[in-house]
Amino acid sequence: MKTAGIIGGMSWESTIPYYQEINHAVQKKLGGLHSAPLIIFSVDFSPLAIMQENGDWDGIAGTLSGAARSLQQGGADFVLLATNTMHQVADRIEEAVSIPFVHIADVTGARILERGMKKVGLLGTAFTMEQEFYRSRLLERFGIEAIIPAEGDRRFVHGTIYNELCCGRFLDSSRKEFLRIIGELSDRGAEGIILGCTEIPLLVTSEHTDIPLFDTGRIHAEAAVEMILEGKRLSRVQS
Ligand code: GLU
Repeated sequence: MKTAGIIGGMSWESTIPYYQEINHAVQKKLGGLHSAPLIIFSVDFSPLAIMQENGDWDGIAGTLSGAARSLQQGGADFVLLATNTMHQVADRIEEAVSIPFVHIADVTGARILERGMKKVGLLGTAFTMEQEFYRSRLLERFGIEAIIPAEGDRRFVHGTIYNELCCGRFLDSSRKEFLRIIGELSDRGAEGIILGCTEIPLLVTSEHTDIPLFDTGRIHAEAAVEMILEGKRLSRVQS
């Protein structure tokens, strides 16, 4: 098997499902006592969140590139960055290592196309919803139009992510608001909703709505499983 390297901790609440989902899938596939070879470099989120607020993306790129290099040196065969927002600096992290970097928007875009959708809603931090790096990638690489909530709702979603979800607080009142916002995106023509922040699936799941949801963390973790097991097939061929 190949070894996955995960840059996590942003927030740590949302890194836990990566560890669980990757291990569940590998155990299900291989049975017995099998589990996934993986390394997690879990950062302290607080200084990085301050850098986000200050627009210090160079500082963030420096810290996360260092984490990626450590994962490579530690034996990782590929890298995942377990947050949508920090993909703002994905190109610079990718340049810092010689192993593959699995971009969360690419695996999500591919999944949306598999479902035959072209117009989806995007929920995430203000950085992910409003800056170019995420929506442009979906449009340019996959022809997918990602629409976003109105300004007040974007502020609500952003605030809830940092003040509640990243701190392990999951309130029914916030879930209700998220579902209202999802309903509005659907009314505007969204065929599905990208949960483009790895904490949102901790609050809203497909149990809460009939609109198809794209859980970016889960899709990303599933891509990691494929790469881990691909390593297994390769080593069998070689031996
Ligand atoms: N985990 C979040 C995301 O997927 C937000 C935290 C961050 O700013 O990295 O975007």
